[in-house]
Amino acid sequence: MNLSDLKNEWIKEFSQPMMIAGPCSAESEAQMLETAKRIKETNAQVPIFRAGIWKPRTKPNGFEGVGVIGLNWLKKVKEEYGFLTATEVANAHHVSAALEADVDILWIGARSTVNPFTVQEIAEALKGTKKIVLVKNPVNPDLALWIGALERLLGQDIQNLGAIHRGFSTYQKTKYRNNPNWQIALDFKSQFPNIPMLIDPSHICGNRTGLADITQEALNVGYQGAIIETHSNPDEAWSDAAQQITPEVLATLISNLKVRNSGLAGFDDEMGRHRTLISDLDFQMIELLSQRMKISEQIGKLKKENDIAIFQPERWKVIAEYAVQKAKETGMSQDFIEKVFKAIHEESIEKQNNIMIDRI
Ligand code: PEP
Ligand code: MN
Repeated sequence: MNLSDLKNEWIKEFSQPMMIAGPCSAESEAQMLETAKRIKETNAQVPIFRAGIWKPRTKPNGFEGVGVIGLNWLKKVKEEYGFLTATEVANAHHVSAALEADVDILWIGARSTVNPFTVQEIAEALKGTKKIVLVKNPVNPDLALWIGALERLLGQDIQNLGAIHRGFSTYQKTKYRNNPNWQIALDFKSQFPNIPMLIDPSHICGNRTGLADITQEALNVGYQGAIIETHSNPDEAWSDAAQQITPEVLATLISNLKVRNSGLAGFDDEMGRHRTLISDLDFQMIELLSQRMKISEQIGKLKKENDIAIFQPERWKVIAEYAVQKAKETGMSQDFIEKVFKAIHEESIEKQNNIMIDRI
């Protein structure tokens, strides 16, 4: 059996978008129950409660999760409020503890998806399970690794599968904690339309302000659900405080989501996909321009220190010739590329001028 043969009927048991909410980390029984209670009280459609029990942290000596005791709290959340429960597993011990505690949905985190040995170990520990297993994209932008992880699970006869798009690490920090790189997730979706795709706006944004837009964007391109970090007291959270929201804010976010018109699904999907790819590229162009301007300012400082004229006709000639040649190679109009580069160059000169006259 191949991934494309999977039916993934499990997603049909949830109304869409399927929402998973709960804290980044389980911290105490009181925090878990309070968060669950308040999510319930909002009446928002959230069938699944998440909480990290074991936390993979970038640096040592941080809070690494409460461990197995937190599984009892997840159980209580299920018993008292009727949620299905979900947690991350990162090795075979986690799997056996989570299975024993009857956690309903397990996910493989972004730092585990990168490691085929880890994924294989988890897959073998889960062999034949009927539970839903979700795989986050790897931290690095590698589609094959993401698909490979799902194939390893299927190889152990695990058939209730789904994917979570949580964005990709970058060295240059942008407005995102993890760059969405929509192209990768959309390529995944077009290759495997049968595998449900959820968005994790919390780890993409790294803050509270962008969550609604990213979630809406995902729905516009046909994602089936979202996993959103929600905490009874986000400011005091032991991990990922900046990106967590209260149950009440979550409920508002959910009620403002526009679920796409399924009658026009094909059109919406394709239109949404193109628009998302264009926004993604626009974002990248702006980021690149901003980096280019910063370097240009450094050059401005050097010119000032060495008393060199800002405008260097020879240098501009090289830049313009290169741009025109690239325009030819990529089938774009030379006139258009020349205009774009003139505008960039002018802005660069303006920035350097400001440095020369000490305006900034
Ligand atoms: C999480 O969901 O809390 C988490 C650790 O996410 P990721 O694996 O995406 O970093
Ligand atoms: Mn988190």
